Amino acid sequence: MAADHRRARQEALLGALAADGLEALLVTSLSNIRYLTGFSGSAALVVVARAGAVLVTDFRYEEQAAAEAGAVARVVVERTSVWDRLFKELGALGRLETVGYESHALTVKEAERLTAAGKAWRWKPAGEPVERLRARKDPDEVAAIRAAAQIAGAALRETLAAVRPGMTEQTIAGLLEGALRRLGSEGHPFPTIVASGPRSALPHARTSARAVAAGEWLLLDFGAQVDGYCADITRTVVVGARATAVQRALYEVVETAQRRARAGVRAGMTGRDADALARDVIEARGFGDAFGHSLGHGLGLEVHETPRLARPNLDPLPADAVVTIEPGVYLTGQGGVRIEDDVHLAADGPVLLSDGDSALVELT
Ligand code: ZN
Ligand code: ZN
Repeated sequence: MAADHRRARQEALLGALAADGLEALLVTSLSNIRYLTGFSGSAALVVVARAGAVLVTDFRYEEQAAAEAGAVARVVVERTSVWDRLFKELGALGRLETVGYESHALTVKEAERLTAAGKAWRWKPAGEPVERLRARKDPDEVAAIRAAAQIAGAALRETLAAVRPGMTEQTIAGLLEGALRRLGSEGHPFPTIVASGPRSALPHARTSARAVAAGEWLLLDFGAQVDGYCADITRTVVVGARATAVQRALYEVVETAQRRARAGVRAGMTGRDADALARDVIEARGFGDAFGHSLGHGLGLEVHETPRLARPNLDPLPADAVVTIEPGVYLTGQGGVRIEDDVHLAADGPVLLSDGDSALVELT
């Protein structure tokens, strides 16, 4: 059985809050609520204070909240206003003066509630203390992401075996999503991207009704999810023909950059230096302008988490982060190539969690 880290996470959070002069945190991010309490429903408010953690939800989640979070939080089910109830519960947690809130996960309307109803407390934006804790994965979290990445790899192999010229992007996405579900993915953490031919040059293409023709690029960017944890993979293949010399050359640039980055990325290097591992290769080959996004992002309960592997990030990458490595080169009108794998920044170096099968695939 997996170790239960939730108490330790709440303790670590209280330590971080104290260092910032906060006595409690109002948690409104659902991913943060799941991380701290285990509750996986779609509506709850949580307060973590020295006196304990309280989770307020509505009656739809009465059973689920008690079962998932009851061991580490007092679960309160409210049938009228969860916010009014939250303030009542907060008052019962003892004398608290300064309470933090998650300014990145609160609507303006909710912020007004804090000002209007919460006069008993001084409310302070807390930054993102839970996200900072979440950046370092414990072994169970790494295992869940690895399991999701394995499902993603298997689903892709199954799908590519069935892809033929003339199939639409939507048909191929349907095959892939069906395989992901059948192999055990809890859901699709983001809309599957299947982009063919010139559409592969759109870094965030929407899967369309376009049919892929023989000799064209097919880019697939998709996720899988296990115990709430996400994998995020991209592969770009050539459909129905051998690759042309031009395609081969383009692919080789991205593959070289991706392999260099996934082997060289380390905890402790800045996000900027990690990004440069791939960008230097792509720039040296003259494609710098065609790599318009950053190298990668953290992965966990959400698909995009801290840390960012990007030029503006001058902070060191945290130990035990799980990150994507996904350089791409996009040539408008021609097509693009992106290769994405998931890597754990372990103490003694990077460990691939996805299959790393990045050699050029020609579906002939
Ligand atoms: Zn992706
Ligand atoms: Zn990604």
